[in-house]
Amino acid sequence: MQSEHSPHPYLKKVGIIGAGPAGLAIAIALRKKGIEVHIYERAKTFRPIGAGVTLSPNGIRSLAAIDADIVQQLKQQGSQLNRFRIRTARGWPILNQPVKDEDYDQPFLAVRWFSLQEIMRAKLPPEILHLHHQLIHFDQTQQSVNLSFANGETATVDLLIGADGIRSIVRKQLFGLEDPAYGGWMTWRGVQKYQHRLLPPHHTTIFAKRGKSLILLDNGQGYVSWALEMTSPTVHQSQHPEAAKARVLQELSNWHPALQELVNLTDANTIVERPVCEPMILPQWSNGRVTLVGDAAHPMAPFLGQGTNTTFEDVWALSTCLVQQDNLAAALQQYGNSRIERAHTIQYRTMYSAAQMRNPFLRPRWFKTSLGKVPDQAKVGEKAFSDWLYQYELTAEST
Ligand SMILES: Cc1cc2nc3c(=O)[nH]c(=O)nc-3n(C[C@H](O)[C@H](O)[C@H](O)COP(=O)(O)OP(=O)(O)OC[C@H]3O[C@@H](n4cnc5c(N)ncnc54)[C@H](O)[C@@H]3O)c2cc1C
Repeated sequence: MQSEHSPHPYLKKVGIIGAGPAGLAIAIALRKKGIEVHIYERAKTFRPIGAGVTLSPNGIRSLAAIDADIVQQLKQQGSQLNRFRIRTARGWPILNQPVKDEDYDQPFLAVRWFSLQEIMRAKLPPEILHLHHQLIHFDQTQQSVNLSFANGETATVDLLIGADGIRSIVRKQLFGLEDPAYGGWMTWRGVQKYQHRLLPPHHTTIFAKRGKSLILLDNGQGYVSWALEMTSPTVHQSQHPEAAKARVLQELSNWHPALQELVNLTDANTIVERPVCEPMILPQWSNGRVTLVGDAAHPMAPFLGQGTNTTFEDVWALSTCLVQQDNLAAALQQYGNSRIERAHTIQYRTMYSAAQMRNPFLRPRWFKTSLGKVPDQAKVGEKAFSDWLYQYELTAEST
């Protein structure tokens, strides 16, 4: 419930840029703590685009702390993954093993990206969601942050949260940084109702060929999401949705016919074509009255499936710090201290995963990158890293 008068005198009104998972989740978390929030999103409507996303125990634990009912609904709509398979492009089995979740208190859950968005959106009153509001500029003073939008409107807030994704304009203006560099991989994603014996319920299956993988996830309720990830020396930009679909079908031309059929059935207008970026390692996420969450704070490659999960970790930490401290500077300092080192470690580990996809003999302890010194925690073995990642302990909430 949101009270009329904020219990946090230094935070009467918070502006959030972006209505992706980060923006929606931080709005829900702050409203629960009695803070007035407004989300400004550049899209004109919410469309059912995007594919599937795997929520891992660390992300689910964070989301449950933000709002347990969201997780409850996702568990009803999504699919708890219990088996992981790798097959060749033609469908021959290579690996078949159970999903190892016995050491964690939450499952691995595959959901449609659109379900996640809709469930979270339904938690917010429509009047705080300002669509067709593309932020083009902000100015901050000691007392407030003034926002200017492409539609000519303006707003003034006490705190600005940049939840505006991988090419964040808030990050760009806050720290004078360019967008992250291209990472050498292209991805195409879609979701479709589909049944086939190669894609049983509760399974993740990767069909792989040199330099290319097609990852299939059971998303529950008969939906299967697919993601084609392939190395590409340059960024590919399709001229229209049908061209993107034709490109995927061309890349899968000699693959198992069921995979081509799945892509063929997918509505081209819902397919998301994205280049994978190099991680961007930011030493700080806040300055004055402005801070970052989600992809804006820690752009990373998708190879560990942690973009959305670490976003929910950020949101829980930021909302907790904002109510624990009695001034904004201390709250944002505590937020950075609690999050940045862990996010860097995950970002470096995604780079290791990308390198390992090119060289399966590479081991974490030998991994080096030109982006900086790899943290020791990013160099440990698979099981130790998984336990560190998935057993993440949340900051305690103040009473
Ligand atoms: C359309 C879409 C589909 C996706 N599909 C998948 C998927 O299928 N599987 C998966 O694992 N991940 C997917 N992702 C990525 C995943 O959601 C993110 O990696 C992660 O969840 C981080 O979320 P975020 O909210 O930080 O960033 P994002 O999800 O990128 O959200 C950022 C939001 O900010 C808005 N925005 C950007 N700039 C401005 C501006 N100047 N003014 C106002 N608004 C702005 C964007 O329109 C967007 O809604 C998708 C993202 C998007 C936007």
